[in-house]
Amino acid sequence: MVYLITGGAGFIGSHLAERLLERGDQVLLMDNLSTGSMENVRHLKKYGGMHYFLEPLENRQILAELVDEADVIFHLAAAVGVKLIVESPVRTIETNVNGTQLVLEAACRKRKLVFVASTSEVYGKNTNIPFHEDADLVLGPTTKSRWSYAASKALDEFLALSYWKEKRLPVVIARLFNTVGPRQTGRYGMVLPNFVRQALDGSPITVYGTGQQSRCFCDVRDAVESLLRLAATDKAIGEVVNVGNDHEVTIEGLARLVKERTGSSSPVEYIPYDQAYEPGFEDMLRRVPCVDKLKQLTGFHPATELPEIIDRVAAYHGRKREFVGVPREAASASA
Ligand code: UDP
Repeated sequence: MVYLITGGAGFIGSHLAERLLERGDQVLLMDNLSTGSMENVRHLKKYGGMHYFLEPLENRQILAELVDEADVIFHLAAAVGVKLIVESPVRTIETNVNGTQLVLEAACRKRKLVFVASTSEVYGKNTNIPFHEDADLVLGPTTKSRWSYAASKALDEFLALSYWKEKRLPVVIARLFNTVGPRQTGRYGMVLPNFVRQALDGSPITVYGTGQQSRCFCDVRDAVESLLRLAATDKAIGEVVNVGNDHEVTIEGLARLVKERTGSSSPVEYIPYDQAYEPGFEDMLRRVPCVDKLKQLTGFHPATELPEIIDRVAAYHGRKREFVGVPREAASASA
């Protein structure tokens, strides 16, 4: 099979590409390297089935050619990370909305299955835990830039579902909950790579707010397994499916566990949200997926435990730091 992965040089895209290549499939990787990095995928050159296209989705001609060659399209290209979203809302909205529109339009001409990566962020401030796929989306005001991410992804979902309903383009939508693992960068605010790097450096572990907010962390290998199984079943077509681990941990608890697993003596420092992000920043107190639908459609649910995930992330960051001749800052900037 031939798979087109948009955003293939990103954190999740690179793991997906690797899995597909390992099992003998062909990968057409399209990425403009805005947040993705060659560092993530350079090692995949050794596979004959790997093809790189370092182009933006706006290059419609290349996109059309790749869609034509592919059997299935994984559309993962998006602006991600709360920090990036707060700092660059224009980029977030344009990347997420325009990119998805271009991919769906091109796929529709050739009637290719499109897998759209959405996010748990769309549930917003909903407090009905766990989140079911048909729950209401509860977003904050447009004056708070954080919500532009959820709104842009919700629009992507509406558009994909409309292509399915109106034009019978087969689509599958996955709402990814906090996905973590090696190669995820802390540059855009993601908590686990930041905590691990801080713990390894012996610098303060920065918990935002009270640390009582909670999340569920899904190993990227489990997320990739879920995506592949969803793409392989006709029952998932036209559906929205949560993809995540449902084990909940507070951010304060995560900081403690990271310290413990890395044997770090870093202090934990509490930073108010308006200093960490922007004045008036709104966070979600809890975010837990209901994974019944995923289990029912694929027979699989993510279950890798947090200590194991932290160990893998710490080993990755440890290796980067040991990389001879690369100063610490440079190593972390390209993580
Ligand atoms: N967070 C934190 N310290 C950091 C980065 C993030 O305490 O250095 C918090 C953040 O405020 C949120 C949680 O960790 O409550 C998860 O943040 P992340 O950006 O990883 O994902 P989100 O769930 O917000 O999309």
